[in-house]
Amino acid sequence: MSLEEGSMVFPGEIITNAEGLKAGRGTVTINGKLVSTITGFVRFNKETRLVWIDPIKQPIFPRRNDLVLGEVISVGNSIANVKIWFIIKIGKSPRNLKLIPLKKPFSANLHISQLGVRTESLSKMIKTGDILISRIVMDYTLPVNIVINDKLLGVVAARCSTCGTPLIKKKELFCPKCNKVESRKVSELYNYEKFMNLIKIHKPKRYLIVELE
Ligand SMILES: [Zn+2]
Repeated sequence: MSLEEGSMVFPGEIITNAEGLKAGRGTVTINGKLVSTITGFVRFNKETRLVWIDPIKQPIFPRRNDLVLGEVISVGNSIANVKIWFIIKIGKSPRNLKLIPLKKPFSANLHISQLGVRTESLSKMIKTGDILISRIVMDYTLPVNIVINDKLLGVVAARCSTCGTPLIKKKELFCPKCNKVESRKVSELYNYEKFMNLIKIHKPKRYLIVELE
């Protein structure tokens, strides 16, 4: 059975083959397949063979103080525009992150004064294409404002601005090909592969738990 307990499904999504299973709350059987009718997490009782969905309310919009994951779309001297894809909930430790996909991405602005470090131009510390963890500070204007003035906040995945190679985090971000340091406002959670992959799955379908060593 391809059924994965706890995985997140959307309305209309096939959960598994219906054979030998009972369709519970939030599911229907269509052409021999169990299909979800709501957004939520798959549950399964081995004894009764019942499959049901625990509904979740997928956030449409983050709230003030939420942590969010997004991609830098453009950077000027004083303002960067960031497309937000996920809301982040921190688990037991800051390195145990639960990422909840938003129904639709939305736009946020980062001002140079919200960087937590001094620089003459925002574009020296953030580059287009960088993946950022930030915090929402205002939720009643559009685009919303975000800040990265904390150790956990900042760039979590970035490529070299010269050659495009993924940057490695040593003391600072470093390009192994050009053999040079790149300046960024880096997050303690920097991890190129994990965060870049998350953004690549532009329409994330699962409730993701990322564990970083
Ligand atoms: Zn390079």
